[in-house]
Amino acid sequence: MNVNRRDFLKLSGVSAAGAAVLLFAEETHALTSDLKQLRIAKAKEVPSVCPHCSVGCGLIAYVKDGNLLQLEGNPDSPISEGSLCPKGASAMQFAYEGIGKPNPLRELKAKHRKPGADHWDVVELDWALDRIAEKIKETRDKDFIETVNGVTVNRTEGLAHMGSACVDNEEAYLMVKLMRSLGVVYLEHHARI
Ligand code: SF4
Repeated sequence: MNVNRRDFLKLSGVSAAGAAVLLFAEETHALTSDLKQLRIAKAKEVPSVCPHCSVGCGLIAYVKDGNLLQLEGNPDSPISEGSLCPKGASAMQFAYEGIGKPNPLRELKAKHRKPGADHWDVVELDWALDRIAEKIKETRDKDFIETVNGVTVNRTEGLAHMGSACVDNEEAYLMVKLMRSLGVVYLEHHARI
């Protein structure tokens, strides 16, 4: 069969359209299969509120057969519009504690990812704590500022500290005391991020 340039373009267009339809059908099939396998499929959605702090972000609890399967941000919440801070995003851990069950997703070992690595190595907890202390000391020494315009400031701008809505007054006092003694000026709170 002789195929001129015009016929070739027409045939290519038909083939491309056919391939696109096939691809779409395959993707739709894959998506439908995934939906069928979702753990929360057919679970009841119960709106709730994050218990961790007074910001009051909205949660959705997925419940099936009397079991809590998942907690996630509620996009209908006028306060948080579906987002949660790291504390709220780990609310499932709180729920596991409440029912006295171990969280199957909880990490029980210290892990370290070397610079440039694409995986995490399990390390001893003592090694991890020493490493954190070393890096804090190294960073503080490198970035420590003693004076600004002749005024003593004794601070480091190379470190920051993240607080928590769940600590009590005494814990917050100790955290701030430790950070100020290191010269840390950037103290943040997770609910603001
Ligand atoms: S800011 Fe975080 S801890 Fe506070 S209510 Fe929202 S998700 Fe919960």
